[in-house]
Amino acid sequence: MALLQTDVLVIGGGATGAGVAWDAALRGYDVVLADRADLAEGTSGRFHGLLHSGGRYVVKDPVAADECVAENAILRRVLADCIEDTGGLFVTTPDDDPAYGDEFIAGCRRAALPAEEIDVAEALRMEPRLNPGIRRAFTVPDASIDAWKTVWSLARGAAEHGARILTYHRVVDLVVDGDAVTGARLRNEVTGEELEVAAGFTLNASGAWAAQIVKMAGIEGVGVIPGKGIMIAMNHRLVNTVINRCTMPADGDILVPIRTVSVIGTTDERAADPDEIPPTQEEVDAMLDDGERLVPGFREARAMRVWAGVRPLFQDEKAAGAEAIDTRDVSRTHAVVDHVARDGIGRFLTMSGGKLTTLRLMAQDLVDAMCRQLGDERPCRTKTEIPPGNADGEYYSLGSRVRQREATLQEEQLICECEMIGRRRLEEAMRRRGSANLDDIRRSMRLGMGPCQGGFCIYRATGILHGVGRLDGEQASESLRRFLQERWKGMWPILYGDQLRQARLDDWIFQGLLDVEHVP
Ligand SMILES: Cc1cc2nc3c(=O)[nH]c(=O)nc-3n(C[C@H](O)[C@H](O)[C@H](O)COP(=O)(O)OP(=O)(O)OC[C@H]3O[C@@H](n4cnc5c(N)ncnc54)[C@H](O)[C@@H]3O)c2cc1C
Repeated sequence: MALLQTDVLVIGGGATGAGVAWDAALRGYDVVLADRADLAEGTSGRFHGLLHSGGRYVVKDPVAADECVAENAILRRVLADCIEDTGGLFVTTPDDDPAYGDEFIAGCRRAALPAEEIDVAEALRMEPRLNPGIRRAFTVPDASIDAWKTVWSLARGAAEHGARILTYHRVVDLVVDGDAVTGARLRNEVTGEELEVAAGFTLNASGAWAAQIVKMAGIEGVGVIPGKGIMIAMNHRLVNTVINRCTMPADGDILVPIRTVSVIGTTDERAADPDEIPPTQEEVDAMLDDGERLVPGFREARAMRVWAGVRPLFQDEKAAGAEAIDTRDVSRTHAVVDHVARDGIGRFLTMSGGKLTTLRLMAQDLVDAMCRQLGDERPCRTKTEIPPGNADGEYYSLGSRVRQREATLQEEQLICECEMIGRRRLEEAMRRRGSANLDDIRRSMRLGMGPCQGGFCIYRATGILHGVGRLDGEQASESLRRFLQERWKGMWPILYGDQLRQARLDDWIFQGLLDVEHVP
């Protein structure tokens, strides 16, 4: 079995794990990061897209609110290219109690969150599709954040400081020697080969799967509760500002404009297994109704896709009676689980809870705790160091796609019309990723994520991948079939209206014309 040696093994390549790898690498540690799949294929790639201002938590969860206020400002500085500065509104719909607005604004003041009440008429001018029955409106510095860009930027930054990023490497067991974790056994999910990583320290950043990893060290009962939430992407931007209902956090109360779409979410329900979270028809119906409260006519817009993610909510058995609790009542703050204090096992720490917005703080807290255990204090640098791609400090803007295209309009073939991806950028991404998986390419550049869900671009991309990746015909066809399967999973629970027509057209193209099930 191959053996890798490292100072720090990070398990999990979501926002937290990538943040931890970046932080530890900046402090001069040798780092290996392992994920069982592609980076950000877990919850981070299935979240709602909101860089929280903290407004959502000012009344119910003040600690989480304070963390969001601080981290929102820091991420805007260091990850500008991953963020679109949409701004946010909290609005009192006809179904909400206007008095909550007073508690809300008092909470914002306490948290030093820059919020301001504006006239309803002004809010409606800003967002003409908003429910005209709203009674109060407040501005906040919410924004949208692209998880894939964020995670890859942090991982690339870590790699530039020597970290080794192992995607498709599942941790199948931890190596425990006496009272310490000394590394892990990994399986390459593509080749099936096994490999051992001998690590000075192991950091568990596997989100909703954290309890499964902890069990591998012979530790039972760490309370990471998977909290399932669904989201629906509408095919265009119904709003250009993040819209929140001004009420206690509830289901379906936030609409986030992200890139070319707007996403309504979410729900919060305890899940038995973080890998089994299919959205149900009832959840979809309820979510569309929630959309109507914010934007009348919501149901008539084109619902493109539904998906679910799982929150890693921390409620430890040893800390409280962990009977059937409402996941919505678990704090959104994070916790470092110290397995020396809790279980007598050293060189091993688990991160639990938190949000994508607080990924940097979570990484700092975890690496600080490791440094304390090692007696090796090294200062955190992530408040000021800028990971790759964000150096110019400019926020992402939707128009940048057209600007990029215009530069090569004449000579370059357009491959994905919905996301404006030209052939050159696609080939570059394919070479950079070195992956035979079209879904990996999708996550890198949003290929096939527009209204046609790959209907018009993915067979072109398959041909290009065939050439660039030197895949044989069979491998290329398999990659295409897998991509279509994945897209279908997110479409079938929500097929109605125009998207149903689109799905029929795509089906004719792939099954009728190209007969993808039978191509060699
Ligand atoms: C519905 C929903 C909406 C949300 N919306 C927002 C929002 O708008 N704003 C916000 O700030 N936060 C939001 N959150 C919270 C946020 O998405 C999560 O807190 C965050 O993404 C968690 O990141 P993570 O890296 O800890 O976990 P993940 O992204 O899940 O990463 C864990 C990784 O561990 C890997 N892994 C699991 N088992 C193994 C193994 N055996 N070996 C190797 N790797 C393994 C997984 O593949 C995965 O990639 C939302 C969460 C949900 C569920």
